[in-house]
Amino acid sequence: MTVDIFLLESNIDFELKYTYRVPENISGEIAVGMFVNVNFGVHNSKRIGIVWSIDRSETPENAQKNGYRLKNISGINYDYMPLSASQMRLCEKIKKRYLCVTGDAVRYFMSPKIKNPKKVKTVSLNIPRAHAEEVLSTNTLRNIGQIKIIETLLKTGDISCSDLIKDYNVSQSSLNTLCKKGFLKIYEKEEAKKFEGTACKYESYPAHTLNDEQENAFLHIKKLLEAHAFKELLLHGVTASGKTEVYLQSIAEVIKNGGKAVMLVPEISLTPQMVKRFYGRLGDCVAVLHSRLTDKQKYEEWMRIKRGEVAVVIGARSAVFAPFKKIDLFIIDEEQEPSYKAEDESVRYHASDIAVMRAEENNSVVVYGSATPRISTYYRGRTGEIDYVKMEKRASHNALPDTTVIDMRESSDKAVSDVFSPQLVKELEQNYINNEQSVLFVQRRGFSKQLLCRDCGKVMRCGKCNIAMTYHSKGNRLICHYCGNTVIAPSNCPSCGTGGFDTRGFGTEKVEKELQRLFPESRTVRMDTDTTSGRDAHEKLISEFVDQNADFLVGTQMIAKGHDFPNVTLVGIVSADSLINMQEYNSSERAFQLIAQVAGRAGRAEKPGRAYIQAYNIDDYAVQSAAEQDYEKFYKNEIILREVLHYPPFYKMAFINFSSLDDRAAYDFGMAVFDAAKAVCNENSLADIEILKPARQPAQKVNGWYKWRVVIKCESFENILNLADKLRYNISALKKMSKADMRSNIDIIK
Ligand code: ADP
Ligand code: ZN
Repeated sequence: MTVDIFLLESNIDFELKYTYRVPENISGEIAVGMFVNVNFGVHNSKRIGIVWSIDRSETPENAQKNGYRLKNISGINYDYMPLSASQMRLCEKIKKRYLCVTGDAVRYFMSPKIKNPKKVKTVSLNIPRAHAEEVLSTNTLRNIGQIKIIETLLKTGDISCSDLIKDYNVSQSSLNTLCKKGFLKIYEKEEAKKFEGTACKYESYPAHTLNDEQENAFLHIKKLLEAHAFKELLLHGVTASGKTEVYLQSIAEVIKNGGKAVMLVPEISLTPQMVKRFYGRLGDCVAVLHSRLTDKQKYEEWMRIKRGEVAVVIGARSAVFAPFKKIDLFIIDEEQEPSYKAEDESVRYHASDIAVMRAEENNSVVVYGSATPRISTYYRGRTGEIDYVKMEKRASHNALPDTTVIDMRESSDKAVSDVFSPQLVKELEQNYINNEQSVLFVQRRGFSKQLLCRDCGKVMRCGKCNIAMTYHSKGNRLICHYCGNTVIAPSNCPSCGTGGFDTRGFGTEKVEKELQRLFPESRTVRMDTDTTSGRDAHEKLISEFVDQNADFLVGTQMIAKGHDFPNVTLVGIVSADSLINMQEYNSSERAFQLIAQVAGRAGRAEKPGRAYIQAYNIDDYAVQSAAEQDYEKFYKNEIILREVLHYPPFYKMAFINFSSLDDRAAYDFGMAVFDAAKAVCNENSLADIEILKPARQPAQKVNGWYKWRVVIKCESFENILNLADKLRYNISALKKMSKADMRSNIDIIK
């Protein structure tokens, strides 16, 4: 008896089925989908494989293959539960869609493994506190990740390595470097015994009586559920139209019929506040999955799902892999959110694609919810490819905010503030006096965009990335937001030696300072990645703003979604220009979505709201239509450009991304990929494919790596996939021939 296995850890060169013999004593137990331990290759390295097929016959060929004697598998690996046939079919689909190896797809479906749960690696300072504080105020350390670790340890005391890395967003390598330098030590500590499960106390959250629009949407979903056929629906509802209520009642309907549902929300919206609403309505049958869970919590939730104690999973992107056998309803809230796309993982999947694959397999329903859907999703709704339901009224019947675009070219000289126009200052003041809350949206964290020499005009840039460094008043530091390189800000220009610095542009810190200057008695809460590291920090800031009734909330895009701020009546977008000047094919779409979303934060409850958008580029159609909260108007402009410029949804795009420490080598590699792509097209008669010459990526250089890409466009998804699939082998061969180290990935956008 033999089995064909795929290796769990693999790459394109080893993406074969390997045949092993099954020893007599386990042959009764072995099954397809099981994990097995094997000795692999000439060196017999220990590897894990997954059984893809079994040949139970005992023929002489079983003993050998292609002249080699077959090895026995070493045993079954019981650390992981076997994959089901349906999960294996999904792996095949994922492999085809994302051009990954089987092992990479399999990993998303594997049960979490709890390794030696008793001891946890814990990190502590290895130097006196005073010494650590001194390190922070000098140039001893030049890496912001390392500085963050020292800061955190001063604050928290000893902490487990995994908590430090996960909750404070620092890297293992920074940790290692600090240990090597003798600043930190790592030791093993017994894990704290108590474990708080997710089944928390909750207040009941009674259902609203649906209004007409909600009723219509709910009945549409109900009808689809009853049909038991694969179907997608776009629920296009303005902010605060009551989409969440529709989701809750639809999920309740699924549960009533003994079914299962998965509700995806952007990571940032997955707050205890929101989870409580689900527990409060649906009770104990809810599980929560997100990346901030500890391994043990994740294991517990996973097992509750597996054991069938759960009917609903709420979670971020990866919850789309929830181990239900059959899922009746997927809901993807804020479907336009970029966090649904896995950018840095081995499989660059989009959660909605995976939901569709699973729904096709289960004959079930996928609902996309948004006030500002992706252009491609809306296009599919408009053309009838998927179902479409609109909700145009706010559930609480108050109007959408009044929105005004402020021309910053006019307001610059007579201004009382170099951040806010006179008009916005007046509005902020009025709100402050009336004890109503205001939200200010800023594109960037930090104090200001850059330091600019008053005399010679030199801008302080990162030597490694050629990106203007950002000034942070905390610690008086310049930080590169691409690679984390940092220095104490010099007081004189290193270039001309004489000039002092001006700050240019602004970030959250500067806006916060400016509010303090204008309204000295006011209270401001600032929310950006600097203030929200640490478990629950995000939630604490929100409740600080809501419960303690602070006057101003200043934040980056993390304030754009998810939260209901009943007392906010004024929203200011400090600089819309920084949004529209990004460099991707969908930059306008993102700008429109962000502006419309942020503006929609105003006046969600009884009091009416107003929004002010400051911009130099006031004629831009994204800014204009977002100000008018007119999705249709934006779409009409954008869809024409997409068609003319051969962008999605009309053309599919493949991005062959690659990078190298050697700029020239990266370019040469790109030319070779370009030639190879042309050749593959010719050999396979793939017509009508546009292949663009290698170009730099918008983030040109990160951490010393020069980033380039070859962009390919084609109307046929089949053809572009076919080309990319074949091109993978050329790229693998070219990498081996290149004189420099080369990293690459392929991203195909529908
Ligand atoms: P969305 O998800 O579309 O942004 P929500 O579901 O958060 O909107 O609803 C916005 C507000 O309206 C919430 O405070 C919610 O409690 C309230 N709401 C929702 N549906 C109704 C309804 N049918 N009647 C009264 N209030 C409602
Ligand atoms: Zn840098």
